[in-house]
Amino acid sequence: MTRVLIRNAQVFDATGRAPYPADVLVEGNRIKAVATDLGVLEAPEVIDGAGMTLMPGMVEGHSHPTFTGVSEPAQLGEIPPEEHLILTIKNTRLMLDHGFTALFEAASAKLRLGVVTRNAINAGDFIGPRMRAASPEITTTAGLGDERRVHIYRESFALIADGPEEMRKVARLCMREGVDNLKINVSGDDFVTNARAACTPMMRDEIRTAVEVAHEFGRMVVAHSRSAESVKRCVEAGVDCIYHCDQSDEEALDLLERNKNRHFVAPAFGILYNLVHETEKTGVPRSFIEERGFRKAFDVSCETYHQMRKRGIRVAIGGDYGFAFTPQGQNARDIHHFVRFFGYSPIEALQCATTVGADLMGMKHELGLVKEGYLADLLLVRGDPTQDVTLLQHPDNLAMVMTDGRLWKDPRREIRREKLPLAAE
Ligand SMILES: [Zn+2]
Repeated sequence: MTRVLIRNAQVFDATGRAPYPADVLVEGNRIKAVATDLGVLEAPEVIDGAGMTLMPGMVEGHSHPTFTGVSEPAQLGEIPPEEHLILTIKNTRLMLDHGFTALFEAASAKLRLGVVTRNAINAGDFIGPRMRAASPEITTTAGLGDERRVHIYRESFALIADGPEEMRKVARLCMREGVDNLKINVSGDDFVTNARAACTPMMRDEIRTAVEVAHEFGRMVVAHSRSAESVKRCVEAGVDCIYHCDQSDEEALDLLERNKNRHFVAPAFGILYNLVHETEKTGVPRSFIEERGFRKAFDVSCETYHQMRKRGIRVAIGGDYGFAFTPQGQNARDIHHFVRFFGYSPIEALQCATTVGADLMGMKHELGLVKEGYLADLLLVRGDPTQDVTLLQHPDNLAMVMTDGRLWKDPRREIRREKLPLAAE
């Protein structure tokens, strides 16, 4: 069993405490000891963390490792599975380079892509972040993701289910193929014309059926949900993680607050930030941003998430990275967005990226803290991210990335891999 001692670092344990000096011993894939009595621990392998902060690895709460930088979701359907699998594996490693040691998948572009990637990581075939694998987006005719046309045969990359009978069948298919997270598109989105964000095409009986099937198999349901009505339907049906929620009204927020131990939310705010604040870089025409009301959606999201924070609702980070305008690797930007736009303190925002994420993964008793007995998913950050959360946006600031006790990036070795890909800034 390998034993690695990280010495002289400031430890940000993610309990809410400010960083403090401690030595941390890792044995196998677990944290064996956290000693504030410095110098008492010994191990054959020692890493010097002087000037650095040791913290838990980050959890991406709305990740899309199967999204390959396309400008429209429909293009995902056109990538052959062979190429797609390789691109997916590449993305998981890119996220690991950026300090994400766990990915909660929000939707997979093909039914088995997330599943086989997760299986290969779990089997030790390659080193990658821990994963909960998602199904493709399940939508209704005319819902977000229904890319079919009447004049030409074209399958959608989403799975279409109309009515509880079809939903039951599609959901069971996803269970059989091994997904952890069943993704349903309950509301539309302003990206598409057929179902806008304020529209809620998925009906109560369809949502309830999805939840019933997934929970029977011990899996989770996650929902694309922008309209206030969609949030209410998701809470009533018991959807586990409700994404976006930006148009939540008072009633929807009250419902979420009353049921805050049952639900997670995640704004997936990166997409809105990039569209509104980096329009030129995104290549999306400014007229489209204005016409579709993304600026308003941005402001509304900020208000909504100030409320979420005040009401103590569990909010995970994850910004819908993986499109042309939200490059993979920018994921840690969300932490800064939480501080800058939603009123979180840096420590609170870092907890959203660690402890809340671990809770979302269903692993809060063994992941997301620097604590004895917990899994050794750890980062050594040059500097103090509790003073400057933007440090986490640059992989050069990560001296060490450890996943499940294995060193993906080791500060003692000159890494001769190709230069780490930096996300476009
Ligand atoms: Zn998404």
